[in-house]
Amino acid sequence: MEEVRFPQQVNIIPDLHFRLHDKRHIQIDTLILTKSYILITEIKNITGTLRFKEFPNKLVRIVDQEEEPFDCPLIQLDRNYDGVSKILTKVNLNLPIHQALVFPSQNTLIENAPRNRNIFFVKQFPLFIQKLNKLPPVLTEKQFTLLTNKLSNINNNFTQKPLCERLKINPEHLKKGVLCKHCDATLLRKSLRTWICSACKTIDTNPIPRNIHDLFLLIKSIITVKDCMHYLQINSRYTIYNSLQKMQLEKNGHKKSSQYTKATKSSTLK
Ligand SMILES: [Zn+2]
Repeated sequence: MEEVRFPQQVNIIPDLHFRLHDKRHIQIDTLILTKSYILITEIKNITGTLRFKEFPNKLVRIVDQEEEPFDCPLIQLDRNYDGVSKILTKVNLNLPIHQALVFPSQNTLIENAPRNRNIFFVKQFPLFIQKLNKLPPVLTEKQFTLLTNKLSNINNNFTQKPLCERLKINPEHLKKGVLCKHCDATLLRKSLRTWICSACKTIDTNPIPRNIHDLFLLIKSIITVKDCMHYLQINSRYTIYNSLQKMQLEKNGHKKSSQYTKATKSSTLK
């Protein structure tokens, strides 16, 4: 399996609910926003043999020759696509919107899947995201923030669940190391304070907090020094510890077993 690396700026908005107008309510499992694209995902945890049917569009599960109908998730994706493009129009932004239907269960058999749609088992899904991550950035910093705020504001129950958990991606498939904020290549440590990108040669004097921040977003909402050492590929417990202390995180537990969580706005509101 190839490694997946998300751009440094990615926003994952889970359970996005909004009302487009009186009769249209939109509900999106997970929306991924980067400067290059929006990905709308629908995750269907249904096991057994599933068959796509047309006219009318249905997804049916076959159990003992009996058909159990479900609303077609592809129709839902299309409705959501429409909803999201209306939001983009409202804020006057143009960004490619992609869709994916993901089946997390290994025990699902799919029949008659339309060829022109993005339908994945969870194992293939990281490769698809990796392909999208190669798209060129379209939004400026300012536009990205604007859209993030717009989407977060309409989402009433905004909870942070790491991306790997939501999309059932194995964190071991993500690229490890301390990574460059510009090109996501691995940074090499030149001296105590200086790191240099192995690809674009950018100098970074404080890359660790940013890379730890990414772990919260992508991998775990509660992390330990050991987690950071593992994912950032840093041997020094002290280096990690030092960065964690400076990050204004919530700390629980003692010494080596300390666990850190992000002190989020929503947790202080509770
Ligand atoms: Zn670089």
